[in-house]
Amino acid sequence: MTGLGTPPSAPLAVTVLSGGVGGARFLQGLLHLLRSTGTEAEVTVVANTADDIWLHGLKICPDLDTVMYTLGGGIDEERGWGRTDETWHARDELAAYGVEPTWFGLGDRDLATHLVRTQMLDAGYPLSDVTTALCARWQPGVRLLPMTDDRVETHVVIEDPDEPSGQRAVHFQEYWVRLHAEVPARAVVPVGIEQSGPGPGVLEAIGGADLVLLPPSNPVVSVGTILGVPGVRDAIRSTSAPVVGLSPVVAGSHVRGMAAQLLAAIGVEVGAGAVAEHYGARDRDGVLEGWLVDTADAADVARVEAAGVRCRAVPLMMTDHVATAAMAAAAFELAGLPVPGHGRQQP
Ligand code: GDP
Ligand code: CA
Repeated sequence: MTGLGTPPSAPLAVTVLSGGVGGARFLQGLLHLLRSTGTEAEVTVVANTADDIWLHGLKICPDLDTVMYTLGGGIDEERGWGRTDETWHARDELAAYGVEPTWFGLGDRDLATHLVRTQMLDAGYPLSDVTTALCARWQPGVRLLPMTDDRVETHVVIEDPDEPSGQRAVHFQEYWVRLHAEVPARAVVPVGIEQSGPGPGVLEAIGGADLVLLPPSNPVVSVGTILGVPGVRDAIRSTSAPVVGLSPVVAGSHVRGMAAQLLAAIGVEVGAGAVAEHYGARDRDGVLEGWLVDTADAADVARVEAAGVRCRAVPLMMTDHVATAAMAAAAFELAGLPVPGHGRQQP
């Protein structure tokens, strides 16, 4: 750990545990902050891969691709996922053959990414190498690491009156994309996680960081699964870097996504303070030193601090890069690190 004593030549090492859309938008703000202040930094992103799915013989990694496309300028900004200027001919042709599933949005441009990835995996390259190769095109400006090279898949146990047991497990993508998270979820099961190991560089990126950030990503199926990879939680607990998180819940709502349903499924109240308690304080068996809540949740600050986590209320709506950069700056401040650009204009 270097921290305050960092010599001016050593870039600041920031490690972010990210899901898809929420993590990627936060990363845009973080990079905006670092670039606009001329701060030399190396940002490493440990991305969730438990949303990954095999479809039509292709390996699809939604969170890795969302981060890669968003930071590489290829994302469809309005949808928040997939490629800009996308067309859907292949999907329509598959549907014309009656091939299932038809509910997953496989765009023509996006398809090329999955083809390259699957070919490389078939040739024996691990997902981490494949990701590096894909990023050579997109130049996301961060080091993008899959949380694991092993196969881990989040399944959601949903209520189903047609089943004798009254329930059935579906892949997370089916729960979210086909069922729109509208059926009651009873449990979230990251299949294969216990047998998985951290991807190359993941533990080193956490152990060698000056700052570890939990962006406002889904605490259950994004950050939760990353922390579930054996070794990751221990690395977070033992790194000398401060660990600061930003609440993905604002005023009792998940803003966009399905965090509320899944928090309820794992028995966590849908609140900014409750999510901090769920992560826990690092000096009390948890992972956090600091937690930012939205100004709408200022009433939760005392509760979070009582749980042993330093807390501040600041605006947490990622409306544009500038607003999101301010969130990242607040995280530096809460971590006790110099805020990039702070004092630059002073004589
Ligand atoms: P996903 O993998 O695409 O679902 O993306 P993430 O897991 O990285 O992030 C999704 C989460 O981001 C959602 O569950 C929301 O709780 C959170 N989120 C989205 N937009 C905002 C925002 O503007 N502010 C905050 N604080 N959280 C947000
Ligand atoms: Ca995701």
